[in-house]
Amino acid sequence: MQKIRGIVALLGRPNVGKSTIVNCLTQTNVALIDDRPGVTRDRIYGRVEAELPEQPGFVLVDTGGFEEGKGEHQPFSDNLVWRQTMAALEESDLVVVILDARDGLHPLDEHLVNLLRKMNKNFIVLVNKTDGTDKAVVMGDFFALGVDSLLSASAAHRHGIVELRETIFQKLDADVALNSSNSTDPDAINVAIIGRPNVGKSSILNRLIGGERSVVSSIPGTTRDPVDVQITYDNQSYVIVDTAGIRRRGKVDDKLDVISMMRSIRALERADVIVLVIDASEGLTDQDARLASMASASFKPILIAVNKWDLVAEKTSKTADQFAEDIRDDLRTVAFAPIMFVSCLENQRVHKILAQVQLLWQRSRHKVETSRLNKTLEQIVRDHTPALIRNHSKRVKFFYATQVKVGPPTFLVFCNVANEIQESYKRYMTNRFRSDLGFDAVPLQLVFRGKSEGRGTQHQ
Ligand code: GDP
Repeated sequence: MQKIRGIVALLGRPNVGKSTIVNCLTQTNVALIDDRPGVTRDRIYGRVEAELPEQPGFVLVDTGGFEEGKGEHQPFSDNLVWRQTMAALEESDLVVVILDARDGLHPLDEHLVNLLRKMNKNFIVLVNKTDGTDKAVVMGDFFALGVDSLLSASAAHRHGIVELRETIFQKLDADVALNSSNSTDPDAINVAIIGRPNVGKSSILNRLIGGERSVVSSIPGTTRDPVDVQITYDNQSYVIVDTAGIRRRGKVDDKLDVISMMRSIRALERADVIVLVIDASEGLTDQDARLASMASASFKPILIAVNKWDLVAEKTSKTADQFAEDIRDDLRTVAFAPIMFVSCLENQRVHKILAQVQLLWQRSRHKVETSRLNKTLEQIVRDHTPALIRNHSKRVKFFYATQVKVGPPTFLVFCNVANEIQESYKRYMTNRFRSDLGFDAVPLQLVFRGKSEGRGTQHQ
């Protein structure tokens, strides 16, 4: 469930049924969609998982920017919203254009399809709201677009959603670009520097490169061109992945949340360790929380770097601790991650980032001997017995555990009945594994398996 196959951008005029389609695809009812025009709204909808849990899903993103009739948001003309839309289209692996069957073929639709063709984009056209229409006649109208992937749906009735999902998966698989972007040095630690615009990612990158001789490798042939920077520090080689988005300066699209989000998602896919940068002068925002939860879903070690520490006035010996506590409260999904306070401006502690990255990486590769693991498991259960199972007078019994993987360290824990273990007990056990087995500050995966159960239940 951790990996993604790609980023899918949705594009459609207001009212074509985008939110219904998103809700069907993500299988949630959270209407994350706010149809107000503008650049600040949240455009990341979330992940759509594949049928099989071990296969990668995709991330859905709204490109917005298709608000007809309002001067400052005119599509196809030179305004901020449309520039953002174009950048988001560029950044995506696949575009789903949503049209409205009841409107028939709109002149803007043709214009849009031509634009996507010119951009050489992988795209699907979905005609929604076909219920109550003579589908053959209506679709005949849209065939004039001459596109290969023309689908129809009635999202309000959940018709056509399975086909849409399948076509998206097929189209993403056909896109080789995503899979070709792996870094070159097998011994290097791949690091993603992610964060909102303006938090100082590029300043950190520049500080890290510093006087080092850096090799910049670009992988040509894709529109996105990931650029990796290789650094050697203390005899360890690091590849800072997908720095294109960090380094490209001065263009309006670099500073927009949706683009930085898409680039962050892509970078964290390719990384071994993630550095999440937060701006000390601005405090935490929803966008930070969203990035943190995207990062934690990857089960990769995360280092939180609080930058611009110089801007925090009147610091006392307690300021950093207080700040760290606030971060752990607000970004619960990454509460296990270590936090560093740095200043690029004053060059304080920035160079320590890589040493910390190395430490986290090494820990995430650590393998525990089975005998030690089982002694620890016994002790953990002895220290805190699980509660009684509801309606029975017995308790969950843990038999033994075994580590099946590193990076992320993954443990199978065998017990009598896995689905009776309380969430709080799973958290307790995960935390004890972390502290007692040398996995401080790295994400762990515990899979609980009952006697007669196949897959077991999972806990991070
Ligand atoms: P990015 O968009 O995340 O790559 O952010 P940049 O690296 O471009 O930084 C955004 C702005 O913050 C620039 O004006 C930097 O000079 C400034 N900046 C970066 N790091 C620091 C810092 O530690 N302290 C202060 N005061 N400003 C910083």
